[in-house]
Amino acid sequence: VRVRYYCANCLERTDFPSAEDLAFSCPGCGAAYRARFTEAERLESRVDACAFCGRHAFFLQRDFDQRAGCAIMLGSIALAVAVGRLAGWIWFTPVLLATVVVDWILAVKIPWVTICYCCDAEYRDVVQNHRPYDPHIAERYAETKTVGRMADED
Ligand SMILES: [Zn+2]
Ligand SMILES: [Zn+2]
Repeated sequence: VRVRYYCANCLERTDFPSAEDLAFSCPGCGAAYRARFTEAERLESRVDACAFCGRHAFFLQRDFDQRAGCAIMLGSIALAVAVGRLAGWIWFTPVLLATVVVDWILAVKIPWVTICYCCDAEYRDVVQNHRPYDPHIAERYAETKTVGRMADED
């Protein structure tokens, strides 16, 4: 299990190489936190309760950098334009489609990351016992997040 937690105050991230219970403080703002892993997480790499907020709602997402996705997109278009110029514009669309297919094949190989709906903590190298992102569940947790933030401001 590899875990990443984002500070609720300053969004600074903290990485954990393994599921060990520990107290830690945010490297950005010094806020104190505690990570508490369940037996399933420590022994079976199965995420059941969030180590940071204790909730049980998680979703799966491809472990993929959005910026890398953009760069690959632009690269595909640039390649299609280059081929179009050299070999004739009739090749533009086929080359673009071919790169899209290659991207899609590569995307299937990208591993999943399990993310907590409530505090956005990320769990990698774990059993995939959750479902992909569900906006209805996210909505519920968005409300509790906002309420939590408002309570903090008092
Ligand atoms: Zn912080
Ligand atoms: Zn959480």
